[in-house]
Amino acid sequence: MTDTADRTTTNDVVADVKDWLADNWDPDLTVADWWERLGTSGWAVPTWPSAWFGRDLSRSDGVRVQQAIADFGALPAPGGLGLMLAGPTIAFHGTDEQRERYLRDIVTGQKAWCQLFSEPNAGSDLAGLQTKAVKDGEEWIVNGQKVWTSGGQVADLAMLIARTDPDQPKHAGITYFVIDMHQPGVDVRPLREMTGRALFNEVFLSDARVRDDSAIGGLNNGWRVANTTLMFERSSLGAGGGSAAASLASPGTVAGDLPRRAGDFVASGGRRGGGGGTLFGASAKGLIQLAKGNGKASEPALRQKLVELHTIGELARFNNLRLKAAMAAGKDIPGLPNIAKLSMSQTVRLSRDLGLEIAGGYGMLHAYSPEDREALDDATGMPFLSGITEMALFAQGPPIYGGTDQVQRNIIGERVLGLPKEPGFDKNMPFKDLPKNG
Ligand SMILES: Cc1cc2nc3c(=O)[nH]c(=O)nc-3n(C[C@H](O)[C@H](O)[C@H](O)COP(=O)(O)OP(=O)(O)OC[C@H]3O[C@@H](n4cnc5c(N)ncnc54)[C@H](O)[C@@H]3O)c2cc1C
Repeated sequence: MTDTADRTTTNDVVADVKDWLADNWDPDLTVADWWERLGTSGWAVPTWPSAWFGRDLSRSDGVRVQQAIADFGALPAPGGLGLMLAGPTIAFHGTDEQRERYLRDIVTGQKAWCQLFSEPNAGSDLAGLQTKAVKDGEEWIVNGQKVWTSGGQVADLAMLIARTDPDQPKHAGITYFVIDMHQPGVDVRPLREMTGRALFNEVFLSDARVRDDSAIGGLNNGWRVANTTLMFERSSLGAGGGSAAASLASPGTVAGDLPRRAGDFVASGGRRGGGGGTLFGASAKGLIQLAKGNGKASEPALRQKLVELHTIGELARFNNLRLKAAMAAGKDIPGLPNIAKLSMSQTVRLSRDLGLEIAGGYGMLHAYSPEDREALDDATGMPFLSGITEMALFAQGPPIYGGTDQVQRNIIGERVLGLPKEPGFDKNMPFKDLPKNG
């Protein structure tokens, strides 16, 4: 009875979004106009509350809506950290006035966001951050350095955590702000990775300014708010989201996609094609096809690893379904987002090893430009080679970002299994009295 009722609802939802797309999708619209239409209709983030650009749908129906939009051939909702992290965090902790101010531009992709959390001496130990904000009338003046800031070079706004009270213990005196990236006090310097890309940046904050009313979740409550963002990050990464799963058109005023024709990003597969894509996040199916095509599918050791990859993928899928079912029933399974993130790391590492094994000696060759990639693919006769090598070079990133594997294990050990906490003298001492590196 319940199954039938659920199926009916689900079918209605898919039928509804298809009807809406039939009436509204127009490939000749600009990306900005299309995302405006999609975002204000509630179909960009259907799992959000209907009062705030959503449709109150369950997570599984939300996934079906995304699939229906892709199947229809329309441009999906904007990707990036705005929709993935900033939006849900502000929806949860923000005031109505802050929701009014920020959420619309997030769901319509008009503004791009980055996350100014990590610092040179504060990554795993994020609460040790030293960037400080000092009150100045209706504003705060911010000084410090952030690092590994993904997408900082194209961001309009950022989620910033800064120390607002050094007299309090380190977890207590932190505030979570929204900061405008377009101001003289913000200097963004790209960091080139071994993939050849510059995904992330250093960001220097020198007398940068934030509005007092942009503090999300209240003064000195930033640790709690940041943990909400990190929770969304871990569950999203574990479910296959993240930088590698970004939409083909980029949100925000800097990337330059908003005035372009929406249909061009759908028909051409987007401007990031051209052999540059990675196989990161590929299911075992993709690698099985590669092994078959490369005559390696009959090697027993390789087959065993392919089955292992498939098994890990299925376990992750079942765990995801368990979590969804628990959440739909108003419950939670503590630690599952951390387990999902660990499982993603394992999948990435195994995919890297399998890809290189399938490519054989050619896996040592990597091209950095689209032209060189094409030449390499021609010379080796392996059109998928650049996807494998790019994945292999990038594979070190996912087990680090969103909290390293070791940190996930610490959280599971301490908060889920109840194991003793690491010894720490720094929890109650005022931050200003703690010994500092450098
Ligand atoms: C591709 C990529 C994108 C990123 N994007 C962003 C971004 O947009 N915004 C942002 O703010 N940050 C970003 N980061 C930074 C990321 O969150 C940090 O790199 C991460 O939290 C680890 O911090 P760290 O690099 O300072 O390493 P450290 O914290 O110095 O850790 C070094 C090593 O020590 C281990 N370690 C540390 N503490 C413990 C402990 N208590 N127990 C056991 N082992 C421990 C770690 O697991 C790691 O192996 C990104 C990182 C990557 C790789």
